[in-house]
Amino acid sequence: MKILKFGGTSVGSPERMKKLLDIIDPAEEQIVVLSAVSGTTNSLVEISAKLLKEDKQSALSLINALHEKYNEFVIELLSEGKFLEQGKEVVSYHFGFLETLANDIFTPVEEKVVLAQGELLSTTLYHIYLKSIGVSSVLLPALDFMKIDEDNEPDIPFTTEHLMPILAAHKDNKLFITQGFICRNSFGEVDNLRRGGSDYTASLLGAAIMAEEVQIWTDIDGMHNNDPRIVKGTKPIAQLSFDEAAELAYFGAKILHPQSVFPAQKYRIPVRLLNTMEPQAAGTLISAESEKGKIKSIAAKDGITAIKIQSSRMLLAYGFLRKVFEIFERYKTPIDMITTSEVAVSVTIDYLDNLDKIIEELHAFGSVEVDKDQSIVCVVGDFSAEKHGYAARVLDSIKHIPVRMISYGGSNYNISLLINTSDKTEALKSLHGRIFE
Ligand code: ADP
Ligand code: ASP
Ligand code: MG
Repeated sequence: MKILKFGGTSVGSPERMKKLLDIIDPAEEQIVVLSAVSGTTNSLVEISAKLLKEDKQSALSLINALHEKYNEFVIELLSEGKFLEQGKEVVSYHFGFLETLANDIFTPVEEKVVLAQGELLSTTLYHIYLKSIGVSSVLLPALDFMKIDEDNEPDIPFTTEHLMPILAAHKDNKLFITQGFICRNSFGEVDNLRRGGSDYTASLLGAAIMAEEVQIWTDIDGMHNNDPRIVKGTKPIAQLSFDEAAELAYFGAKILHPQSVFPAQKYRIPVRLLNTMEPQAAGTLISAESEKGKIKSIAAKDGITAIKIQSSRMLLAYGFLRKVFEIFERYKTPIDMITTSEVAVSVTIDYLDNLDKIIEELHAFGSVEVDKDQSIVCVVGDFSAEKHGYAARVLDSIKHIPVRMISYGGSNYNISLLINTSDKTEALKSLHGRIFE
């Protein structure tokens, strides 16, 4: 069985939804994971923000505007007759529900419920569309088998345990449809896998059912060798190892959700990144294979804060780093980059909710300096053979840019640089010119 995930643009209009059958072969065993129609989750985020601020009127007018769009969407998707009536019922059910939520007490719990409506709508409408053209499919409720624990970690065995019996009960069906992004948390409440999380759903499902392959269908022909939104002339990469892809996704390549490679990697499920608008293009294959001696791609992640802890007591003091790390651990704040000297250590984080408390505790060790608005630029490829001189080339190409931290040697497949976000565009272009052109 394969997992095919289609992102927001791939289901972004009734026309696009209809065209999915150019790619989906209903005769093949597969689970199709759909995102919300593009723009929907952003609108739902806006609606929730208004409701959290108790601005009910603005929320209701945003709900109305989105409702209008869906009224037009179903007419174009389902044209006429009983299936159009079903589609209209689905739309009015979900928007009626949003209005009810808007008229009641609104907390972060309801916010998650609001955000879930996008994927619930797209999958239900697509399921009705398939029925309307005589293609049989089974709509799987992701909330019955996608689950995260108290640390927001997905529970793959739970998915296996709860999904397998549903699939077995539909032995005669080949085509299954389900929602990306949404799940339940350890309290059983509706939750999600964070923005862009449908990729993660696809990879988790791939792992849970030991799929033959996971395909991520999007609006570009695979992982490019730099951020195409910033650098001109980027090119698709034919093959990436799991490690390389994980590094790129984690450090900002938006085509993949930051965590989405890990389940596929752990269960060794190959992942293909493919273009819905150009289905014949080769795309990118992510697998356990790694190509030797090549720099593959450059990515950048914004919103980084660097923290430097300087301490004379660190001199020769074993156990110092452990004490520093324990503070971050207590506040559930992951560290992305780290560099050390004899008397100081610098780390970077991007989860800032507990920054003040962390800094307060770090003061016990010495002076603490904080730099905000930083970006990590990550160059990924095979750096194992020193003879390539890649590290020197990387540093040389950004010699005109102030670098706050450099991380090299932590793995064989990346160099990471911390720079001011205001220098990011120049850094990406300059590295691209020097490495790929
Ligand atoms: P989807 O809605 O299908 O999940 P996304 O917008 O999340 O699509 O991801 C695809 C987008 O990621 C592309 O349109 C592209 O602008 C952006 N992107 C950023 N970095 C890269 C990269 N290195 N390679 C390919 N796409 C990238
Ligand atoms: N719809 C969700 C989002 O926009 C999930 C996804 O598209 O992957 O973040
Ligand atoms: Mg995405």
